[in-house]
Amino acid sequence: MLTDYHVHLRPDQAGTDAARYFTEENVDRYLLAAQEHGIEELGVSEHIHRFRQALEIWSHPFWREQAIDDLDAYCEFIRGTPLRLGIEADFIPGAEDRTSNLLESRPFDYVIGSVHFVGEHAVDHEGFDVWEDNGDPDTVWRRYFQTLAEAARAGLFDVLAHPDLVKVWGRARPVPERDLRFYYEPAVEAIAEAGIVVEVSTAGLRKPVAEIYPSRAFAELCVEAGAEFALSSDAHLPDQIGYGYDRALEFLAELGVERICVFEGRERRLEPLGREDAAANAGERSGEGA
Ligand SMILES: [Zn+2]
Ligand SMILES: [Zn+2]
Repeated sequence: MLTDYHVHLRPDQAGTDAARYFTEENVDRYLLAAQEHGIEELGVSEHIHRFRQALEIWSHPFWREQAIDDLDAYCEFIRGTPLRLGIEADFIPGAEDRTSNLLESRPFDYVIGSVHFVGEHAVDHEGFDVWEDNGDPDTVWRRYFQTLAEAARAGLFDVLAHPDLVKVWGRARPVPERDLRFYYEPAVEAIAEAGIVVEVSTAGLRKPVAEIYPSRAFAELCVEAGAEFALSSDAHLPDQIGYGYDRALEFLAELGVERICVFEGRERRLEPLGREDAAANAGERSGEGA
C-alpha cells in the first residue's frame, strides 16, 4: 500500500481561483498521477486558511488575505470524487475550541495538523519570516518544536505534518550548533503521549533543505517511541504526486517501518507499506467499480 494524503489541488499563491482547480478534470489529473505511481489511497488536504470560515479561528494578516473559499463547498465537491477528504489545519495556540468546532462539524477522513507559525511569524513564508523577527537559531528551533509538541497534544489532529519544517530554508538560515535531538525530544515525547501519526513528507526534497521531513534522527526517536507514520508528498500539482517516493520508501525501510497509516472517517488502520507489483494492481483494479 502507498498513500498520498497531504495533497493540494491548487498552488499556494493568493488570488488563484478555486473554480479553476476544484474541477473533475483536475481531480482526474491527480488520480491518473496516483495510479501511475502505484498510489492506492489518494486524499486532498487544502490549507485551512484558504477558507473564509478559518477567520473564526485566527485573523492573522496572511489568513485575511487568503481566506476566500467556502469550506462546505470544498467538502461537498471532494465528497463527490473518489478522493479522501482531508484538510491541513494550522495549530493556533489559544484557539483550540474554535478549531475543534470547525473540524468536528465536517465529514473529514483525516485532519493534518501543521505548525507554520510560531507566534505571529512564519517558519516557511518570507513575508512574515520568523528569522527576521528573531534570528537566533536556538530560540527559533526551541519555540518551533515546543509549538509542535503543543499541536501534537491538542487532540485536534490525526497526523502531524512535515514535523521539522523549521529546517526548510537549509543553509539559507542558521541551524543550531547543539545536537538537534535536544529540540526534537519534547516534541517526540508529546507525539508518543498523544498517539498522533507522524507524517513522512517528500516535500522537503523540493525545498532548499533538499531532505525528507522529518530528519533521520527525528524519525528514529519516533520509532523508538512507538509512533506510527503516514506517507505524503504535499503535492501542489499533479506532477508532484508521489514525488520522491523511492527515497521515502528507502528511508522508512532503513528505520524498520513496515506498515503505513490509512484513514477513513477519522479512523486509522495500518496497512503493509510498499509498492504493489503492477500485475497484482491490474488484477485488483479490474474487480473494482472505480
Ligand atoms: Zn504545510
Ligand atoms: Zn501542505
